[in-house]
Amino acid sequence: MNTYRRSPQSEMDAKDLTAICKERIELYKILEEVKLENFEIGSQKWSDYIKSKIKENNLKTYLDLLTDEESSSTFKKSQKKDNIAHWMLGLGYCDTEELQNVFVTWELQWFHLIFMNSSEQARNQFLIKNNLVYKEVSHNDIIDHGEEIEACLGCDCSKIPKLYQIHWTEIPEVVGVRKAYLFMGETHFLPENIVYCVKRKLKNEFFESLMFQKENFHKLKDQRQTYFIKSLPLIVPRKHYNIIDGVSLSNIDELAKTHYPLCMRHLHRLLRQEHHLKYDGKMQYGIFLYYLGLPYEDAMQLWREEFTKKIGVKLFNAKYQYLFKHQYGRVGRKYEYPSSTCQYIINYRLPMYQQTHGCPFKHWSPQKLRDTLEQDCHGQDIGDIEDLVREGKYQRACTKYLCKTKNIHEGKVATIDSPNGYVQISIKESSDCLDSLFSMGKI
Ligand code: SF4
Repeated sequence: MNTYRRSPQSEMDAKDLTAICKERIELYKILEEVKLENFEIGSQKWSDYIKSKIKENNLKTYLDLLTDEESSSTFKKSQKKDNIAHWMLGLGYCDTEELQNVFVTWELQWFHLIFMNSSEQARNQFLIKNNLVYKEVSHNDIIDHGEEIEACLGCDCSKIPKLYQIHWTEIPEVVGVRKAYLFMGETHFLPENIVYCVKRKLKNEFFESLMFQKENFHKLKDQRQTYFIKSLPLIVPRKHYNIIDGVSLSNIDELAKTHYPLCMRHLHRLLRQEHHLKYDGKMQYGIFLYYLGLPYEDAMQLWREEFTKKIGVKLFNAKYQYLFKHQYGRVGRKYEYPSSTCQYIINYRLPMYQQTHGCPFKHWSPQKLRDTLEQDCHGQDIGDIEDLVREGKYQRACTKYLCKTKNIHEGKVATIDSPNGYVQISIKESSDCLDSLFSMGKI
């Protein structure tokens, strides 16, 4: 397993370098494709799907890394290529925050796959070698808390080789999906979940490397190199959450009412009521619509119809049309914006006076949020959601809101990570919603 801490130092033929980068891009395409299958990242199905696609596409480097002995020469050669590909593609994706996020997401998924594919011995060696040593729960503690641990982890304490413990803030992914026993702020979890701790550490390191690469990118003097690198990101088509065949202007209002998360429902309502959104609101909602699968013509019609209730068509065409075209990759660099994650929206700049973007769980006043929650949640549920908000767990609050309003068992869904993901789950889990929308002729 590579941690990609050391940049490659050797010289390489341009043809070989291109082949290495192309192969990595093929891997990224598979990681994009698997999103549409809705497997949980790290699940066996997720892993099997990616491995079968790697085999199908004959991505030799990655096949070697997944199947060969770590000590073999082919494995070592492939490991070297893996490191080169990571750094080269990093140069291609270091330019903007959006591209960096896309790159880090893919790279962490690839690491997750290779980590879960390796033997326990290889994992332990990797952890020690890379100074990633985590505290183990003592045998006495396992015995003292045996009942609780078994209930939380669903395992037999006498059969588990060891348990790790770490402060819960260091491994929220595992706490979020309830694969842990929490005691005095410490998360006790099975060795198979240590990958989340490593990923968290690598994530920070990847971002730091990307910042370094970004700062140094302009120092590359060779035009061919910069052209080569700059062209790389455009090759990977991003897969979307546009899971609703036939989403259109005619059903967007119903969809917003029934399946949008609060952030997007708010923007949609304001667009309909106020016939305008400030820049950040336009960006947040416009990109969401693109990934929802609303066709370009319908999106343009929606914006035009609303905006021209307040301003003339000429002004709309001159001032706003370009932005909406840009969101659909029709003009300028013909660039595809990455879909916004909750983390991005939550950490984006605070909405100021009259701005309407952001995450209601993070950015709204307690009273405004309560008034909204009261429209479709009950007393205790509202209290639970508010508790999560007070603790800063906005995505978990949003997940609880989804579960409560759609009657979904909370253990059934992972924490919401994007507004488009929210819609996807809402539709998938609402057994009667689609039928009723179909019967109403709205989809
Ligand atoms: S947690 Fe995400 S989906 Fe939910 S309201 Fe906030 S930004 Fe929207």
